Amino acid sequence: MIHQYKLNGYNIVLDVYSGSVHVVDDVAYDIIGMYEGHTKEEITKAILEKYADNPEVTAEEIADILEGVEELKKTGKLFTEDLYADIAANFKMKNNDIKALCLHVAHTCNLTCDYCFASQGKYQGERALMSFEVGKQALDFLIANSGNRKNLEVDFFGGEPLMDWDVVKQLVNYARSVEKQHNKNFRFTLTTNG
Ligand code: SF4
Repeated sequence: MIHQYKLNGYNIVLDVYSGSVHVVDDVAYDIIGMYEGHTKEEITKAILEKYADNPEVTAEEIADILEGVEELKKTGKLFTEDLYADIAANFKMKNNDIKALCLHVAHTCNLTCDYCFASQGKYQGERALMSFEVGKQALDFLIANSGNRKNLEVDFFGGEPLMDWDVVKQLVNYARSVEKQHNKNFRFTLTTNG
């Protein structure tokens, strides 16, 4: 997965799973944006059309950039795989106690910062808010999988978690109502732009 954005005249490409950051020119930026899901021929055609007024953008130049992208991919600096997907999926099967949750209650934000790592809170998806029922299941999961740990931590995150403030309050109330019977002590934090 990659995340691309433009800031202060820079074209920045973040390769999410390797953590690599690339600063590229306009043509490379567009090519990288099309790289997945398009053939080389489609990319070449589209780029030549887009930069028809720029004589420096030729098929050879595009081929060179595509070669560079492939090299970066081969060396694990671009379009790298998510090595943790299977581990995350199997997490419940393992006998590891957990002590904390980052609860993504707001898949949206009230601000639109240019530099936002989260695509203005929506992570390139649909804007949405977590329901109380989903959050409650997450808290129940934390309790059920925390073993003998007494202190459990929950961070309300987004986007902007205050956009789901009513649900945040309901979840805190729910946690307080069940923590004693499970011999737990919840600690809450909230990551906000406020
Ligand atoms: S406040 Fe945070 S989440 Fe919202 S747009 Fe800005 S950087 Fe993104």
